[in-house]
Amino acid sequence: MSRVAVVGAGTMGNGIAHVFAQHGWDTTLIDVAPGLLERVLAVIRTNFDRQVKKGMVTAAQRDAALARIRTSMSLDSVADAELVVEAATEQPDVKFKIFRDLDRLAPPAAILASNTSSISITTIAAQTKRPLQVIGMHFMNPVPVMPLVEVIRGLETSDETTRRTVEIAATLGKTPVEVNDYPGFVSNRVLMPMINEAIFCVMEGVATPEAIDTVMKLGMNHPLGPLALADLIGLDVCLAILEVLHRDLGDDKYRAAPLLRKMVAAGRLGRKSGRGFYVYRD
Ligand code: NAD
Repeated sequence: MSRVAVVGAGTMGNGIAHVFAQHGWDTTLIDVAPGLLERVLAVIRTNFDRQVKKGMVTAAQRDAALARIRTSMSLDSVADAELVVEAATEQPDVKFKIFRDLDRLAPPAAILASNTSSISITTIAAQTKRPLQVIGMHFMNPVPVMPLVEVIRGLETSDETTRRTVEIAATLGKTPVEVNDYPGFVSNRVLMPMINEAIFCVMEGVATPEAIDTVMKLGMNHPLGPLALADLIGLDVCLAILEVLHRDLGDDKYRAAPLLRKMVAAGRLGRKSGRGFYVYRD
């Protein structure tokens, strides 16, 4: 049986574990936060129940998938993994340490993938003695629903690692797209300037958030307007990614809108704080 270890059981890690287990992988979900893993297993079960209700999986498939998920609070549990997908906190130092440890603890042949949104895969790979086997596997949120996996080749990533990662993503029912390692990859390089421009439009009084989102939904066929999407992603996350694009590409066209900075400073982070460009009452 194929074995994967998922490091970090937050928003993305629990979805990634869900999808691997659903597709027959023996899955170990690892997190260091006390008490989190039990709660996360309940979340995964609820998400599977929703899929059962919609007729996407049977109750028997749900039960089999849940039985394939083990949890652990120690990175030692990667010892038998063919693939490790790291989905821990988006901080370079946290990820660099994890990859140094994974290099020591995972089998020599294992592929080490990162779900990072904005940290250089080449730099992450350089923390290890196996840069040929380090790659980006960028799932989208919510993972069980979104079909894309952006597969990011670092400078040293081998053809064989890329081929195998693309193959694995496809067996998960996802559509893998291969891209090279540059700041923001493709997804955030294209998305974040659009969101930022929408925020400049609000700031300059071009139109209200509702009007801007309606233009993009009805005029450009986007399912969600850029400001509603920014609220969903988290305005702090949007700001952090724009700062990476601005710094690492060195072009002022990526300068974050001052209104975005002000909203983050005020704690208006979007859905997760109850208020961003819109107010959320649940
Ligand atoms: P999150 O904050 O919800 O979860 C991160 C988890 O990592 C936490 O549970 C934390 O306890 C755990 N963690 C921290 N240090 C750890 C360690 N040393 N070992 C094990 N676990 C550790 O974050 P998230 O939103 O799930 O994001 C995870 C990654 O996925 C980030 O790199 C992020 O950029 C990326 N990403 C996020 C989204 C999104 O929409 N949230 C989309 C695509 C990619």
